[in-house]
Amino acid sequence: MSSEKPDYDVIAIGAGFAGLAVIHFMREAGLSVKVLDRASDVGGTWTWNRYPGAATDSESFYYCLTFSKEILEEWRWSERYSGWEETLRYMHFVADKCDMWPHIQLDTEIVSADYEEDAGLWRLTDGAGETHTCKYFVSAMGMISQPVMPNIKGIDQFSGPCFHSSRWPQEGLDYAGKRVGIIGCGATTVQMVPVMAETAANVTVFQRTPNFVMPAVQKPITDEWEAEIKADYQAIIDKCRNHVFGMAFDSPVGRNIADTDPDEVQRVLEEEYPRGSFSFVFETFDDLLGSAESNEVISEFLRAKIREKVKDPAVAELLTPKGYPLFAKRPPLDHGFYEAFNRDNVHLVDIKDREPIEEITATGIRTAEDHYEFDIIVLATGFQAYTGALEALDIRGKGGLLLRDKWESVSGSIMGVFVADFPNMFMITGPQAPFANLPTSIEQNVMYIADCIKKMEAEEFDVCEPRQTAEDEWVEHTADIHAQTLMAQGDRVNSWMMGANLENKAPRVLIYFGGANLYYDKLRESADDGFPELTFERLAS
Ligand code: NAP
Repeated sequence: MSSEKPDYDVIAIGAGFAGLAVIHFMREAGLSVKVLDRASDVGGTWTWNRYPGAATDSESFYYCLTFSKEILEEWRWSERYSGWEETLRYMHFVADKCDMWPHIQLDTEIVSADYEEDAGLWRLTDGAGETHTCKYFVSAMGMISQPVMPNIKGIDQFSGPCFHSSRWPQEGLDYAGKRVGIIGCGATTVQMVPVMAETAANVTVFQRTPNFVMPAVQKPITDEWEAEIKADYQAIIDKCRNHVFGMAFDSPVGRNIADTDPDEVQRVLEEEYPRGSFSFVFETFDDLLGSAESNEVISEFLRAKIREKVKDPAVAELLTPKGYPLFAKRPPLDHGFYEAFNRDNVHLVDIKDREPIEEITATGIRTAEDHYEFDIIVLATGFQAYTGALEALDIRGKGGLLLRDKWESVSGSIMGVFVADFPNMFMITGPQAPFANLPTSIEQNVMYIADCIKKMEAEEFDVCEPRQTAEDEWVEHTADIHAQTLMAQGDRVNSWMMGANLENKAPRVLIYFGGANLYYDKLRESADDGFPELTFERLAS
């Protein structure tokens, strides 16, 4: 073993929720830790996605970190879904309160990470050529953080601002009185449209595939509600820990559409719909994600709601998703999205069948039918989920193997945390982890990673090697479960949940759909059993 002492025990890339959790749990384990981020602030997703209307889709009081009872007690959320500004203020509060700033280095973009086998350390190199070394390398880069730019002719020709929605100008953008074109119609656009329409001259959405959009129903967190939340916060944390999607819902509810009288089904759906949130799918019936017939019942209910809300039948028809089940694409929550199309200044262009985009010009967007003039163009075209951030830099494991080469056809992992041939490397919510309320999964992942590192330090190991056989087993298990779900139909509708939105890659299994709660159990079992998925080694001194 070389005598080089690493700069830190642990270095994580990414100063969002995951990075803050890394600082807490690694410091608690007595390790030296640094978190690096290319952004100029903490926040991760919430510092990049400053678009109008950006807010959480999980309710704020469980879209948060739970390791500090004091913070849970002191912090006060103002609304059911917190906007990006409040979420950023919360993250600053956490960093201040827990004295995390000395562990954070911003404006530092890591361009490569190399595992040095002889020394048993990771060497990270930033854009300025500085190196940062550590024994344990953690990716806290987020699972929806690497933007996908559309391949549209003339994209650089537009004379005004034209940018990806997740690269919203940090200094803000004055769009009042301006003509705005938005390409894409996913969760981002669903949040952006009603807010921008209030002051923009007009907003035109270029839509390829419509989504099933469910109501969020924003409301203030009143004193009474806050008292109720804080009276037993642990019960909320426990609910998240034990829920299939890591959310504070009471499910399963013990009722299936298949076994319920159709009139009673409609009554339940009508009663639950105005409550808002994902409770509409998680606290109504249990067979929505497993049975195509039951899924079609709720899908049809949602289609009817679109026709009720959107006055122009032609626009309603265009906004109505068809030919795929609810959840084959991740359904967004809305804050007046459908109603926005009843305004005179909001327009929808069907770029799938009627008028595909031909090019972006200096003054707007040309389709097969028309030329639309704009002052601002927003590319809300989505992300390379799960693998994108990890593939955007050169991560080299044993023998110089590049992670993006290893993942060429299968983006395999062990529980979304480890990858064979990449010793001492840990991912937080990596590929083949569940898709769940992110702070819940992040904390479960970081506690697991901290347990692994604590074992290594206590037993004086230098290297933990993920076993290829364990990876093969997880890949197979995850694929088996995936194949049984309706989400497997996502490749028909470009779902990012399968990487089917990427032009240069084949769709693949990116998510463990066996239930986040069961997955958290598996993490615990692995830690309790001494991490049988890994081999531990000491390097010769
Ligand atoms: P998205 O759901 O992947 O939507 C991207 C949109 O861009 C789709 O409508 C897609 O059309 C379209 N598109 C992509 N390439 C295109 C091209 N070349 N030409 C024309 N249209 C193109 O992305 P997103 O809206 O940014 O949301 C991604 C995920 O981020 C969400 O599902 C969610 O998990 C997360 N998110 C969460 C929140 C929240 O929790 N509050 C808010 C925003 C985002 P097709 O569908 O036809 O491919």
